[in-house]
Amino acid sequence: MRITVFVKALIGYIVVAALLSVLVLVFAFRIVKNYHLNTLADNLTKIAISMESDVTGLVSSGRTDSLDTLVKNLGAKIETRITVIDSAGIVLADSENNPKEMENHKARKEITAALKGDIGQALRFSRTVKKEMLYVAIPIRTQSEISGVLRVSLYAREINALLNSLQQRVIAVTLVIIAVSLCLAIIFSRNISKPLRRLVDASRRVAQGDFDANIITKSRDEFKDLSDSFNHMVSRLRTLITDLTSEKETLDTVLNSIQEGIVVTDKSGKISLYNDSFQKIVKAQSIKGKFFWELIRSAKVGAMVENLDAKGNVLSDNIELDGGNYLCSISFISSSGQIVFSFHDVTEIMQLSTIKKDFVVNVSHELRTPLTAIKGFVETLEDEGVDKSKRYLEIIKRHTNRLISIVNDLQQLSELEAVEQLEVEEVNIAQLLKPILKMFEPQLSGKGLQIELDVNDIDVTADPFKLEQVFINLIDNSIKYSEKGKITITAKQDTRQTKIVVEDTGIGIPKEHIPRIFERFYVVDKSHSRKMGGTGLGLSIVKHIIQAHRGTIDIESEARKGARVTITLPRE
Ligand code: ADP
Repeated sequence: MRITVFVKALIGYIVVAALLSVLVLVFAFRIVKNYHLNTLADNLTKIAISMESDVTGLVSSGRTDSLDTLVKNLGAKIETRITVIDSAGIVLADSENNPKEMENHKARKEITAALKGDIGQALRFSRTVKKEMLYVAIPIRTQSEISGVLRVSLYAREINALLNSLQQRVIAVTLVIIAVSLCLAIIFSRNISKPLRRLVDASRRVAQGDFDANIITKSRDEFKDLSDSFNHMVSRLRTLITDLTSEKETLDTVLNSIQEGIVVTDKSGKISLYNDSFQKIVKAQSIKGKFFWELIRSAKVGAMVENLDAKGNVLSDNIELDGGNYLCSISFISSSGQIVFSFHDVTEIMQLSTIKKDFVVNVSHELRTPLTAIKGFVETLEDEGVDKSKRYLEIIKRHTNRLISIVNDLQQLSELEAVEQLEVEEVNIAQLLKPILKMFEPQLSGKGLQIELDVNDIDVTADPFKLEQVFINLIDNSIKYSEKGKITITAKQDTRQTKIVVEDTGIGIPKEHIPRIFERFYVVDKSHSRKMGGTGLGLSIVKHIIQAHRGTIDIESEARKGARVTITLPRE
């Protein structure tokens, strides 16, 4: 059962009022009763003292009959029982009874006290008159000797009647006090619970989203402080909510204006945020609360999510969704455990790329036959032709060879792009390099270049044909662009990766060209490259192959200071 503050305070007040009333009732009654008895006893004492001299005279002279008559007359007049007892406890006179018939009174409490010289007092039952009585007894002295006791007494009947009426009045007053306290308790309890109730109502309104809830209080106590704090808190909340709402609106607008599909999931993969573009991509009506795999049906995405780590690395890959191609990037927010997906539509780019690839393949294929034919005829003409035309034939041959190289490189690049899977196996670098170096021997000795190998006995997991192509292109470049010095090939390995470095002492690459050096057809010095039979495609092919192996390639170089190509291949 729920007990309200009002009821609690009320019960508290009532308990206190009832306790106080009972205490007042008990103590006040006792005090009044004692006071009353004391007053009566005082009066009786005074009566006794006023009679003392008459009684003492009659007692000492032994006139018991006169004493009894005096006592009876006086007793009737002042409506008080008067008894005279000698020092042995024998009753000499009594205003209400025959003294001769009365028993010895020595053992009576008030008599014993008076015989000792004190004023004896007692409220007790009288065996003689069979009534409750208030007694006061004083000693009677004859020449300073206690010769008897004068006792005056009152019937308690009147005392009790008086006390009863007193008790009734005290009870009535107590009841009035209780009733008044109850009314006051209700008022006080209400005063305490009222502001609390207001606070509860206001908090309830705030909890339901009504931030205009305010508490107005006239009091100047702690409730005023509490109300002020509450109002301040609500106003701060209102400002915060307004700020948050406007920020959320901005975020929503920004999010929905982004062309990329964006979706955020919680730890369990449940979607908590997404934008319009994402909704268009997955073509779904209800999205919120669904798991991402229910909408993004792609094994690649699942695998990427599994590979996410707490470092916050972004994983990207091309995926297919509903016939469209998307570049999907996934990142992990370690602090909240959320996953952020973005889908960039690359369908058109992919189509263009396919068209371009097909075009390159077709052109290369189509050009190869006429070029081979031209080359054949040029060589025939060279053999048979006239000396005069030899110079032109030489030029035609050079250009034809260059065209053939370009076609070959283009075809190779297209093939590389077309084949996604690598045929990997354990490749020993030293073994792989052997035939390549043999192939380049004439060029090396032609230029007087040294070659140094420091590859120990290192094995890498790679596609041997493609890795061979990498070395052919790099060594070919080093030879092409070095006139003297040496070419060094080193390989180092640790548990995570293999680093292969091809370094030369040739003309180097000016710094400003390095960022673009891997672009297709990009050459530093067109005429030099052409003279060397370069196509500008060699490094693109190398980069493509290394990336297919999930590796990286870097070039460090300066003009006239040689070039240093570093390849890093991860170990499985
Ligand atoms: P190319 O067939 O012209 O050599 P690459 O793609 O292999 O095409 O190289 C692109 C350009 O980079 C070259 O034209 C050359 O200017 C520069 N280059 C590549 N390797 C070296 C090197 N080892 N030393 C100096 N320049 C180099």
